[in-house]
Amino acid sequence: MRSACLLTILLLPLCAQDPVHLRVDATDAPRRLFHVQMSLPAKPGPMTLLYPQWIPGEHAPTGPIANMVGLRIQGGGKTVPWKRDSVNMFSFHLDVPAGISSLDVTFDFISPPESEGFSSGSSATSELAVLNWNQLILYPEGTQPDDASYQATLRVPNGWRYGTALPIRRESGNEIEFEPAPLTTLIDSPVSTGAHYRTIDLGSEGGAPHYLHMAADSDRALEVSPEIINQYKNLVKETGALFGSRHYRSYHFLYTLSDHVAHFGLEHHESSDDRYSERTLIDPEPQKASADLLSHEFVHSWNGKYRRPSGLIAGGHDGGYSTPMKGDLLWVYEGLTQYLGEILAARSALWTAEEYRESLAATAAALDTKFGRTWRPLEDTAVAAQVLYDAGNDYADYRRSVDYYPEGTLIWLEADVMIRQQSKGAKSLDDFCRAFHGGPGGAPALKPYIFEDVVAALNAVQPYDWAAFLNQRLHSTEAHAPLGGIQHGGWKLAYDGTRSEFWKALEEDRKEVDLSYSIGLRV
Ligand SMILES: [Zn+2]
Repeated sequence: MRSACLLTILLLPLCAQDPVHLRVDATDAPRRLFHVQMSLPAKPGPMTLLYPQWIPGEHAPTGPIANMVGLRIQGGGKTVPWKRDSVNMFSFHLDVPAGISSLDVTFDFISPPESEGFSSGSSATSELAVLNWNQLILYPEGTQPDDASYQATLRVPNGWRYGTALPIRRESGNEIEFEPAPLTTLIDSPVSTGAHYRTIDLGSEGGAPHYLHMAADSDRALEVSPEIINQYKNLVKETGALFGSRHYRSYHFLYTLSDHVAHFGLEHHESSDDRYSERTLIDPEPQKASADLLSHEFVHSWNGKYRRPSGLIAGGHDGGYSTPMKGDLLWVYEGLTQYLGEILAARSALWTAEEYRESLAATAAALDTKFGRTWRPLEDTAVAAQVLYDAGNDYADYRRSVDYYPEGTLIWLEADVMIRQQSKGAKSLDDFCRAFHGGPGGAPALKPYIFEDVVAALNAVQPYDWAAFLNQRLHSTEAHAPLGGIQHGGWKLAYDGTRSEFWKALEEDRKEVDLSYSIGLRV
């Protein structure tokens, strides 16, 4: 019922109320400074402005409030004083004077120097930048992100090109004027821009065009081979074969190739913010090590954006980005995405079948030897996601980490193998994906789910006690990892003295010697 209502809201072409006008000047991006100017409707009396705190896809309160500086608010040409809330650091209180119908808000955002940490990590170099709009806006308390309209204008440094899923109204020189968009869509549509930039058309499938936008620290890094381009074209086709429909108008991979930005992937409905090292597309080792990055983030358009655990909808309908997220179903949101991202990398020829199996072996070995699994069940790693992403690497085997990614791979592989065996080859997890993540498609929509919906959808494909199957794996404190998918698939996790080609590539890429399974040392 909730999803049908949301669908209607999302399909409205424009929002009825006056849009907030947002101007972002990114010409100082090489100095890591972004200048923001907003004009927003207001009425006299008390008002509270919020800076986005809980960032979709990051599953944590990671809004970079410490780097939001220089805040000035004016009404009718006069300064309007503001006061930060003493409990909520993301909240600013003010009194709008009589006779004022709009406020002018200005501030700067400092993009941090070299540091990890998703979109709040380093995102700008002298040659490129990735803009995430959640860092560049304020919104009035009580705003429903689907209903509030924001009309953005962006200035990029002279000569820099750009890519984004946000629909463009017009552009002139280095200024881009976007169509008004709901706040949900704005925050879901980052922009990558840079001096060394290349856009590759990956083809239209299911009525939607697909683009690979690459920003790099050098022109050399953009010399990607036709073979790799074909593999990404395969990826577009393989997702169509898997899911049967697409929930976007167009799709944009924003691939940033730099040794000086944070490395991660962040999913969006119509794009993904993917970042890896400068030579990823021209050297074999980083290419192999990151081959499932784009496929993982792409899968999220279906599993994560279209279908989302109801507890992870912060910016949707619960009143903005200050609502805490609940991560208990991240073993579906991230775990199934991890499994499918790896499978699709192999189906698209980004990995060979052998490389897929070597990756799976590395995953299985890492989980099978973790002491922390004897006290911390898998579900707790998901519930505690908001603290585990940032936990250190010391005592990681005792603490456990965001294990719902790799262990999700093992659990969904086992479910896939079981469906295939019990149906005598007639069905597979692909049928579950088509039923659960398919649907009419054509434009972004959101269909929330709970645990029972996942169980029911599995049962509809292959009757079984899926609730017991999943609960056992989610709540277990057994010393060993669930390797049933590997074993029942006819394989075995084995250790020997010879490094596989895939293992070599990983060590080379990470500049690391990993002797975890012999003398117990990583250097
Ligand atoms: Zn993910």
